[in-house]
This record gives sequence, structure tokens and C-alpha cells, in this order.
Amino acid sequence: KEFDDIDLHASLKKYFGFSQFKGLQEEVIRNVLKRNNSFVIMPTGGGKSLCYQLPALMQEGTAIIVSPLIALMKNQVDAIRGISSENGIAHVLNSSLNKGEIKQVKQDITEGKTKLLYVAPESLTKEENVEFLRSVVISFVAIDEAHCISEWGHDFRPEYRNLKSIVERLGEDIPIIGLTATATPKVQEDIIKNLGIGGAKLFKASFNRPNLFYEVRTKTENIEADIIRFVKQNSGKSGIIYCLSRKKVEELAQVLQVNGISAVPYHAGFDAKTRSKYQDMFLMEDVEVVVATIAFGMGIDKPDVRFVIHHDIPKSIESYYQETGRAGRDGGEGHCLAYYSYKDIEKLEKFMSGKPVAEQEIGNALLQEVVAYAETSMSRRKFMLHYFGEEFDEVNGEGADMDDNTKNPKEKEEAKDNVLK
Ligand code: ADP
Ligand code: MG
Repeated sequence: KEFDDIDLHASLKKYFGFSQFKGLQEEVIRNVLKRNNSFVIMPTGGGKSLCYQLPALMQEGTAIIVSPLIALMKNQVDAIRGISSENGIAHVLNSSLNKGEIKQVKQDITEGKTKLLYVAPESLTKEENVEFLRSVVISFVAIDEAHCISEWGHDFRPEYRNLKSIVERLGEDIPIIGLTATATPKVQEDIIKNLGIGGAKLFKASFNRPNLFYEVRTKTENIEADIIRFVKQNSGKSGIIYCLSRKKVEELAQVLQVNGISAVPYHAGFDAKTRSKYQDMFLMEDVEVVVATIAFGMGIDKPDVRFVIHHDIPKSIESYYQETGRAGRDGGEGHCLAYYSYKDIEKLEKFMSGKPVAEQEIGNALLQEVVAYAETSMSRRKFMLHYFGEEFDEVNGEGADMDDNTKNPKEKEEAKDNVLK
């Protein structure tokens, strides 16, 4: 049957209840159904999961989904089970299963019931699992969070490097679909090289967030007063303030509280119960502000976060984009304010000095881009999108006037020295 003629909208409606595809989803899905390799780059929240879930549900055999986080896999499996009454339609295969559970999973796959099998890379490398999967029908292999393959990404996982050779052992011409929210050209190259998907069709969505306003302020000893003023000017709105250290998180949360701002601290040093209590207080709007380390944010979906402040400059443009991306999810305003002083850069460099040389070099290169972002006098949106390999028209592009440099341009002479690298 030709998939070109199939009404994908009907399947989308049937399985997910949506009546429209988001962005490039339909094109990606058609490519997957044609058994071509695909490379999908979409920002977080762009709807990457559906790009493999829907074709997996529509095809014969089992799709293998490689994902680095057990919690994320469990969420997805629960969601898929929720949309289908068929038993065993989705499973996780990992080390936490007992013998009986593993037997059930394997039986469901063999009987053709299981359409999606989520595995962590370390489970997929296990010889017994490879041997088993060689004996069943695999529709395709999806590598989610594919940036984990690259040392230039923010979450390098060496086990991801073995995936290509394993997929080759599973059978001939099994299509691969790589997915990531990391758009930097270096990471993309690594993914294509390591997965051996040079011929893959590339699907790249825009990373522009036109409703976010980007601003950088020089960090001085008055930073706390400045933050308090900012938050008070935005009273009644939800915001996140990121700090580098746990100590600073607690200090700043207290300073805000003392100044009459309802704020909670959040970092990985609190026990799980305390963390979820503070997180809920923020989500339920019992407090306006959460002061947090980067431990806060993953998987948190509060649509009306109105500002994201960085008390300390982040370690890469990539992280800055991810962290500020939590503002304005509903399309409404989102103010992204970062405080910058070169002293902080030196501090970050010092942190890295204990690490292996190769890691230091990468870390420093990423940091230099942050310096360039903070010190530039050009459109910050243009700078950021250029970093992600995307052209941006700073006059007519969407959100063109939404940054401090464009709103209040510095002297022309100075701007000339800041031509894009
Ligand atoms: P990503 O992996 O790219 O970060 P997800 O796959 O987690 O994004 O999807 C983000 C959200 O978008 C989810 O809540 C999902 O249900 C929703 N979504 C995905 N596709 C559609 C669609 N076609 N219509 C409406 N909502 C969608
Ligand atoms: Mg995802």
C-alpha cells in the first residue's frame, strides 16, 4: 500500500484525538512510513514524540525507541497505554524488570502486540536483548534526545556511540530516525556521523520564539536590589530565577521573602518531598517566584511563566535557550533577563579546570559564545538563531524588536566591531 495516499489525519485523530499536525510532523511521518532515514530537529515542546509514535502504531512490527531517561520513558508508555485498550501495545525494557516481566514483554513483542518498545541505550547494548530483538520484526529505530551522542551537546552519553552498530545487527535496512532539540551545527554533524544517517532527510523547525524578550544587564553588587525591583514591577506574574549554586538559591529566596515577595527555593539538595512541595506551590501559584538551580524545569509545563532571570550566566547558549524557553509557552509575553559579569565567566572556567582536557576545550568554546552573546550590540535573537544555524531578518523577522539591543541601539561605531563571526 502506498502511504502517500493514506489519510494520516484519520490516524492522528484515532490515536491521539488531535485534528491537526504540528509543524513538520506530517512530513516526518510520511518519510518514516516510506522506510527512509529521518533527522528531526525541533525545539522542546515541538511535538517530536508523535513523529515516531504515530508511524509505530500504524506499522507492522515493533518500533524501538531509545531514550536516556527512565522517567520520560515511563510517562510515554503510560500515555500510549492510555490511548489504546490493547494490552502490551507499549513496553519499557530495562534493568528494573524482573524475570516474569521480561518474559511478558518478549512474548508481547513476539506475538506482534507491542508497537513501541522503549529502551535505555545500556539495555539495548546487552547481548541477550540484541539476540532476542534480532529474531523479531522491527519497524524502525528512533533515537530520541540524539544529541546525547555528541560531546558538544549538553548531555553526552557514551553508550549512545554504540547504537549504530547495534541497529545494524538487528536486521538489514532498518530505518533510523534521530530526534533532538539541539540545533547547533557541531552536534548535528556528530549525530549524522555517529548514526551513519548521512542520507537522512532533515526536518528542522525554526527555533525562533518571537514572544520572548531578551535582555542582558551588567552584574554589579546591586544585583539583588535590581532583581527585587524587577520582580515588584512584575508583581502578580510567575517567574523563575536561576542561580548557579544551591547556596545562592537559598540566600536569594530568603532575600526576596524578606522583601515581601512570595518565593520558594528549589535545588537537588532538598529531599524529593520538599522539592515536589515547592514545585507544586509554584505550579499552583501559591508563590510567584521559584529561585532554582538548573535542577528545576525539566518536564515542568507551566504555560504562563512571564519571566526567567539568570542571576548567573549559563554555561552555554544551548542551556540559555532551554532555560529561557520555559517562559511564555502560552504565546504571551516572556522576559528573559541575564546578568553578566566577566568574573562569572572566570569562575565557570575555574570549575572546569579539574576536568579532562578535551572536555575543558569544549566547555571553554561554549563559554566564549556566551561571552559573545552577552557582549554583542546586535540583535540578541539574531545572534542566538545564527548560533543554531538559522538566518534571522532583524528588520522584518518575527520578534525583531524584542531585545534590549534592538530597542535601545548603542552607538553605530561600537556595533561595527561586533560583526557576526
Ligand atoms: P518534544 O519531544 O518535541 O519536546 P513532545 O513530543 O513532548 O515535544 O510534545 C509536546 C506537546 O505537544 C505534548 O503535550 C503533545 O501532546 C503535544 N502535541 C504533539 N503533537 C500535537 C498535535 N499534532 N496537536 C496538538 N498537540 C500536539
Ligand atoms: Mg521529547
